[in-house]
Amino acid sequence: MPPTTVSPSPVPGPAGPSPAHPARVRVLHQGCGGGGNPGPVVYWMLRDQRLADNWALLHAAGLAASSAAPLAVAFALFPKPFLLSARRRQLGFLLRGLRRLAADAAARCLPFFLLTGGPAEIPALVRRHGASTLVADFSPLRPVREALDAVVGDLGRDAPGVAVHQVDAHNVVPVWAASGKLEYSAKTFRSKVSKVMDEYLVEFPELPAVAPWDREQPDDVDWEALSDRVCSEAENVPEIDWCEPGEVAAMEALLGSKDGFLTKRIKSYENDRNDPTKPRALSELSPYLHFGHISAQRCALEAKKRRHLSPKSVDSFLEELIVRRELADNFCYYEPNYDSLSGAWDWAKKTLQDHAADKREHIYTREQLENAKTHDPLWNASQLEMVHHGKMHGFMRMYWAKKILEWTSGPEEALSVAIYLNDKYELDGRDPSGYVGCMWSICGLHDQGWKERPVFGKIRYMNFAGCKRKFDVDAYISYVKRS
Ligand code: FAD
Repeated sequence: MPPTTVSPSPVPGPAGPSPAHPARVRVLHQGCGGGGNPGPVVYWMLRDQRLADNWALLHAAGLAASSAAPLAVAFALFPKPFLLSARRRQLGFLLRGLRRLAADAAARCLPFFLLTGGPAEIPALVRRHGASTLVADFSPLRPVREALDAVVGDLGRDAPGVAVHQVDAHNVVPVWAASGKLEYSAKTFRSKVSKVMDEYLVEFPELPAVAPWDREQPDDVDWEALSDRVCSEAENVPEIDWCEPGEVAAMEALLGSKDGFLTKRIKSYENDRNDPTKPRALSELSPYLHFGHISAQRCALEAKKRRHLSPKSVDSFLEELIVRRELADNFCYYEPNYDSLSGAWDWAKKTLQDHAADKREHIYTREQLENAKTHDPLWNASQLEMVHHGKMHGFMRMYWAKKILEWTSGPEEALSVAIYLNDKYELDGRDPSGYVGCMWSICGLHDQGWKERPVFGKIRYMNFAGCKRKFDVDAYISYVKRS
């Protein structure tokens, strides 16, 4: 992929009216930064689909407030082919979340523009309202970067006075501030992130008050009709019902008084998180984090407040939430081939190539794998957990992907099948953590070399016997069958 204008080298953001840390903001196009143009500020919401605890929205509101200008929020629905091949499962969740967000925005007199024609409609919206600044949030994934590049290019040509800023509202430590390069492992990344953590892991301020919106109002959205249309155009992977979208539901999952992760379940995280028969030992926050319905920073702040309840559990949770999750963004940001064998480290490419022609005991087609038709009941159960529940247990994801390496004709095919299935069925799929999870399992990414063996070469191996030693395999299979 050619380099995008969203270059890895940070262009420091503006200090002054923004409540966001200056290093969280990058100026993608200078414009005249609102100088002499009191036009509104438009926040182009991409992956941080929430109004609370959102540094991009805070930054946009800070700029608007400083020039007594109004603020609008825009979301552009990627048209078919949907962003990263979203299926009905993910699109339904996204739209139901946006519907709630639109209602919350209306209650705060914040205009919310839903653009069904895709990101190409953003420049027209900006021009139509004479905006001074466009603020976008951040994703390291190629199609989102390409869409942002196109918008920056379009505005640079036709509305050069409009400033374009980007804010990393997804990561606790902004990706470009955490490290200026591709990190080799969690160890190297952790030490960099820890050094600057206190600077970024701070409470969120109130949203600055902005001038009332005095322009053309957004069109009313017929959410039912939109959802019917979009879902009928998408591949039919049914929606799930155990996870309600939106900010309120996400906060309930984190802090609910009945069954919230931090309020009721955190204590068992340390001991039980690798036991797939106890899925509620995990936070189950990944769909909310993926769609940005909750901020990782909010989860981290609340976890730290409760560290006394179970220091080991909280520390392990923060390790996954911050180090592992943000390492995935680091990889996808600095490695354009984040979802292919060519993005693997050299030692891993070599060992996989050395063993690419090894005889496989079982070879399954993508269809057989998708339909859970293998000889291994444990693997089949994990596949069915993902297909029907929309979220496979974290421990099983590793076993699942490693067996795909063992049972397909070569590492490229294994990686592409794993990513295809992960993105199709996981509610939290189509995410940097998904690409990195598949790359870790199949291509040894962020891992070390292990004892060489057939097919895997030096890639870490996992087997059924190992799972049997770790947890009650039959109980997991029965649990998946029951649910
Ligand atoms: P918890 O254990 O409660 O963790 C809290 C949060 O930390 C998670 O929500 C997630 O944001 C982050 N996290 C936890 N483990 C990891 C990890 N290994 N890498 C990066 N971040 C992590 N995660 C996704 O969000 N989307 C995916 O599509 C995805 N696909 C994966 C595929 C494979 C093959 C593997 C090995 C891992 C994958 N992961 C993915 C990472 C991890 O398995 C999930 O984030 C986790 O299972 C989500 O459940 P939870 O929220 O209950 O996790």
